[in-house]
Amino acid sequence: MIPAPAQAQLPVAGGGAFPVRRVYCIGRNYAAHAVEMGHDPDREPPFFFQKNPDNLDPSGRFPYPARTSDVHHEAELLVALRSGGTDIAIEDALDHVWGYAPCLDMTRRDLQGIAKKMGRPWEIGKAFERSAPVGPLHPASEVGHPSEGEITLSVNDELRQSGDLNQMIWKVPEMIAYLSEYFELAAGDVILSGTPAGVGPVRRGDVMKLSIAGLEPLQIEVI
Ligand code: MN
Repeated sequence: MIPAPAQAQLPVAGGGAFPVRRVYCIGRNYAAHAVEMGHDPDREPPFFFQKNPDNLDPSGRFPYPARTSDVHHEAELLVALRSGGTDIAIEDALDHVWGYAPCLDMTRRDLQGIAKKMGRPWEIGKAFERSAPVGPLHPASEVGHPSEGEITLSVNDELRQSGDLNQMIWKVPEMIAYLSEYFELAAGDVILSGTPAGVGPVRRGDVMKLSIAGLEPLQIEVI
């Protein structure tokens, strides 16, 4: 009836493409970021929201979105699944991971703030066009399963976010296991694993640089 929409896909370092099925994102997964957003950093159960597969954008450019005056960067490690299932055990979870990429969970913070205050869903703040600038995916067969190492984000060479992957409250295998209790995970699903402290606004013309130990850095221009 209409032309089939393009399959969302991530570029793979060294060539090829990874097709994306779903995008899960965890909230408040680094204690210092939970505190800066006004929440208790204690280990309460994790919570997730979703972005759309076609929100992932490998173009290197982030167009300043509509209807906001406070769009924030959130630097995150993206985890891409090669397989899935339900009720995955924590000890088996990493067997389902294909690879890892640097990714930004760009957020219309003003609209998210209103949604939070009114008890509404977060899509208007989180799941907008090109809201997830992403770098090339690195196969776990080459980079392993990073569980520690620096994650930093600078804007115009000024350091804004700095943390270590070992500060995640819910580790990657725990996130996969938890999600699989509530959803049927499958090949092509990706998980954004949360952001360290230091989130903040960007403006047109800014250049964001996200570095995660062991992965190629991601540079994004705000246009
Ligand atoms: Mn986030």
